[in-house]
Amino acid sequence: MRIGFIGLGIMGRPMALNLLRGGHQLAVWTRRPESMQPLLDAGASGAANPAALAAEAELVISMVADAPDVEQVMLGENGVASSGRSGLVAIDMSTIRPSAARAIAARLLAGGIDFLDAPVSGGEVGAVAGTLSIMVGGSVAAFDTAQSAFACMGRNIVHVGDSGAGQVAKAANQIVTGVGVLTVAEALNFAARSGVDPARVREALLGGFAYSRILENHGQRMLERNFKPGFKSWMHQKDMNIVMQSAHELGLCLPVAAATAQMFNAMVGSGLGEEDSIAILKLLERLSGGEG
Ligand code: NAP
Repeated sequence: MRIGFIGLGIMGRPMALNLLRGGHQLAVWTRRPESMQPLLDAGASGAANPAALAAEAELVISMVADAPDVEQVMLGENGVASSGRSGLVAIDMSTIRPSAARAIAARLLAGGIDFLDAPVSGGEVGAVAGTLSIMVGGSVAAFDTAQSAFACMGRNIVHVGDSGAGQVAKAANQIVTGVGVLTVAEALNFAARSGVDPARVREALLGGFAYSRILENHGQRMLERNFKPGFKSWMHQKDMNIVMQSAHELGLCLPVAAATAQMFNAMVGSGLGEEDSIAILKLLERLSGGEG
């Protein structure tokens, strides 16, 4: 399949590489030309802008940062929409607000372009291994068209519902993972400040009801104090903001997510925004009188 890929950061680069390995014909575009090079070296071709990319593709995928970025590459000057490619399927795999995804879908559909919101979970590790969870919102026809591309990048691929439903699933995912990373950091900091080896505590907890992938993977990296991103804290702040904005739109009470969102605000304010989200441990240590 002829696929165009936009945005080759921590996630986009390995996802695009997996499309190439899966035998797809890949063209790429990035804002900064240097971000494109690893894919050109691997055999992809480069395009001058998103419109040029879309003109030659059956499927276009974006993996950028937030809603304004998706709007820019899809609907902005020289964006995918300006290619005039009726019948194209465009997929955004970034994490953005569900209401923004629905609005982008409607504007693209007016130009004959079908749009899927297809955010992912599984992190850089899952992107490299091609084992991401992919949560999809949009038409069944577009979902079917995208199947062979999704299969190269993910393992658990779920058509959740209509436009925006993929982003709703992802926001729900971020409630669980945001709260999860905070509670694991709290538990390990609690153990350490009680004078008990947090590594032994984690080991004990892994066998009981406190087990989670976050305790296993993120907990291990917290013990190693490996704060290299991964998933940058400012991205998790963005995601908790998506959760809280959506809750505001719906008039929903999300007390635990709200407290977690405040902690991610404080991480960015404390200069930890570019570190992995597990650096929330450092923030807790500082708030508890430790060095962090
Ligand atoms: P990243 O490393 O910062 O990469 C984002 C890429 O998007 C950058 O390479 C940047 O391109 C490009 N970009 C941003 N704004 C753009 C714009 N306006 N126009 C064109 N390109 C733009 O971030 P990431 O970790 O890969 O995350 C990407 C998305 O996946 C985010 O929505 C994030 O929430 C989501 N996500 C991340 C993870 C994770 O573990 N990292 C897991 C699940 C979901 P340049 O390099 O050219 O500047």
